[in-house]
Amino acid sequence: MSDFNPNRIVLARRLEGISQKELSASTGISQAKLSKLQNGISVLDKRDAIRLSSALDYPISFFERRDEILPLSSLTYRKTSKSTMAELSAVSSEYSLLASAVQHVASRLNLAGRTSGFAQIAPRTHGNLSEHAIDELADATRSNLGLPATGAVPNVTRTLERSGIIVAPMRSLGFGSEAHLTSEGVTDPSPGRMYCVGYLGSGELSGDRLRFTKAHEFGHLLLHGYRKPDSPQQLEREAHLFASAFLFPRKDAERVLTPSMSLRDFLPVKAGWGLSIAAIISRSYSLGIIDRQRYQSLFIQLSSRGWKKHEPVPVEIERPLLLKQMIESAYGTPTSTGLAVDSLAISTELGTPFRYLDYWSDGLADIGEQWGVSEQRFAPPNQYRADVDNNHTEQR
Ligand SMILES: [Zn+2]
Repeated sequence: MSDFNPNRIVLARRLEGISQKELSASTGISQAKLSKLQNGISVLDKRDAIRLSSALDYPISFFERRDEILPLSSLTYRKTSKSTMAELSAVSSEYSLLASAVQHVASRLNLAGRTSGFAQIAPRTHGNLSEHAIDELADATRSNLGLPATGAVPNVTRTLERSGIIVAPMRSLGFGSEAHLTSEGVTDPSPGRMYCVGYLGSGELSGDRLRFTKAHEFGHLLLHGYRKPDSPQQLEREAHLFASAFLFPRKDAERVLTPSMSLRDFLPVKAGWGLSIAAIISRSYSLGIIDRQRYQSLFIQLSSRGWKKHEPVPVEIERPLLLKQMIESAYGTPTSTGLAVDSLAISTELGTPFRYLDYWSDGLADIGEQWGVSEQRFAPPNQYRADVDNNHTEQR
């Protein structure tokens, strides 16, 4: 058996969204040969592995690894009518690459066996959970995490990270389709490994939307690691209800929401709890504070003011920290400006292109930069450029 794994050719193509023809053109390996390699008819030798790795700017160790590629069915990524095959396979490929890299870094730091404290409160009974049961679970979760029973969750990202969940922007979410309109996050709720929550990191989403997305995926981790509801629709509904209940507890909602509120009255609620006006209106309806007619009327108003696309009251974009800290503590060396990593060494050890590690970690300092030998990086997500423009350095 060769030391090189031909399945990684398909993985690379899926990650980059390139066809066999395009890969053939950039590597000089014929399409017929690529096809034979992918189908296991030819053996992937060192010479071809080098050609692939230099054409793609991947570490050669990428083609040696045999990590599991998680099927889309084990992930929480929601397929929509607009999802393309390219997008779906890019998401499962990138998520698998992320999960393997995280696992590797965690083992190096002896964190791999650490279980998240919330496993104790995760429900284990099969069948569908009621809205009331989900409200109770959200309350228990807040208490388990040391958050106050009411009031805003100051920083959802940091809250998840404190429970040992990696929160990482991903490039492939919404890739080549308009799926980002509905599918904005992904996770793998099966217990046993360090949990990772991926989210759409392109900067298209507002701060409140991202908080909701992360809380929604957190809901999947809690709700669907040990049990499954009857249908995929119910799976989504439960995670959605959890996100609302976690970000805006029933007690708060019943205190501040009234049946006669106008659209403008929701603005201070949004500012206070950091969730969208649309989500607050839905919460108001699902708690029975407003009736269906009022709910529909508010949504029509929301739409006619153009708030469905751009709501007023900006909510700060939260940035992740944990993965960067883990990578720096496992591989970092001190420099005059702080910790930096050797991009070549780390990408080789993890079998992962450095630009992915850099993107998932929200920016790593690379020692190679001073020698001018660093790998080309992905453009930073827009949200970060906006952050720099606004001179935001720290968040709540
Ligand atoms: Zn979901």
